[in-house]
Amino acid sequence: MRVLVADDDALSRKILEESLNHWGYEPVIAKDGDEAWDMLKEDGGPTLVILDWVMPGMEGIEVCRKVRARNTVNYFYIILLSAKNSHYDVIKGLESGADDYIIKPFHSEELRSRLKIGQRIIELEKRILCLASTDYLTALLNRRAFIERMEAEINRVTREKKSLGIVIADLDYFKSVNDTYGHQAGDLVLQEFSRLLCSSFRIYDFIGRYGGEEFIVGLPGASAEVSGAIAERVRRRFEEHRTLIPEWDAGIGVTSSFGVAAMENGQPELSIDGLIKQADAALYQAKQQGRNQVKIFRT
Ligand code: GH3
Ligand code: MG
Ligand code: MG
Repeated sequence: MRVLVADDDALSRKILEESLNHWGYEPVIAKDGDEAWDMLKEDGGPTLVILDWVMPGMEGIEVCRKVRARNTVNYFYIILLSAKNSHYDVIKGLESGADDYIIKPFHSEELRSRLKIGQRIIELEKRILCLASTDYLTALLNRRAFIERMEAEINRVTREKKSLGIVIADLDYFKSVNDTYGHQAGDLVLQEFSRLLCSSFRIYDFIGRYGGEEFIVGLPGASAEVSGAIAERVRRRFEEHRTLIPEWDAGIGVTSSFGVAAMENGQPELSIDGLIKQADAALYQAKQQGRNQVKIFRT
């Protein structure tokens, strides 16, 4: 795990860097608060942080306040280091947003133990984030996480004048699968369909479970035609696929219907709702016209 260390004193930096390496962390070094703040603002930077309080320019507590004011999705665990040793200082440091406060000079094993606490908190937070955004049955994004991702992508593709495709898939007559083979068999079919989606779409496409037996895929950079072609491939593969159920020798065959829409490059920005409505309208057509087919929304 990477640990950001910000200290203006070269010797302290060196000692911390060596200790962190020795303990199996990957130190990322900043020479002062401003440099640390620049690194903390970057996406994907370290989230476990050791900050010296007194530094020229931006002080450690100021960096703490700025990190907390940003209110990012990822949690930053911050340990403040300082020779300031009064109760008042400790309170002020913690109130600025630090998670922990270590008074200098400190025992290196104490820092090591406190870093472990930070690591546990960050890992716990990652697990919670993952659970909160994942559908339990299929491990795909849940509806909320999908929409969040879609919001970010729609902004990005609009800025970069690119296309964004969207595919909604719905299993055909799925209620009768449950009625005939039982709910558990239905669950297996849903899991196999999810796996097929994951292996058919491109690595940068994002896939969510939109509802019970409804799935949704966002395809950054893809036109409606490209999105439709991939959907057609999934449709065909699923049509040929049999889900094996322990009690049923032949396996279950289920088909799927797809609605496709896209925000093409140069087109005025559509809302997420608008784009989903278009794909939904196309899906409705696919169902109306006999199911087991892909329909692309046309204005
Ligand atoms: P259509 O072709 O029109 O889509 O028909 P359908 O039967 O697939 O559609 P309908 O909306 O009538 O039924 C959807 C079914 O999906 C009903 C519900 O019990 C089932 N379902 C929803 N979520 C789950 C799930 O998590 N597991 C299982 N096994 N079934 C589910
Ligand atoms: Mg259905
Ligand atoms: Mg449905």
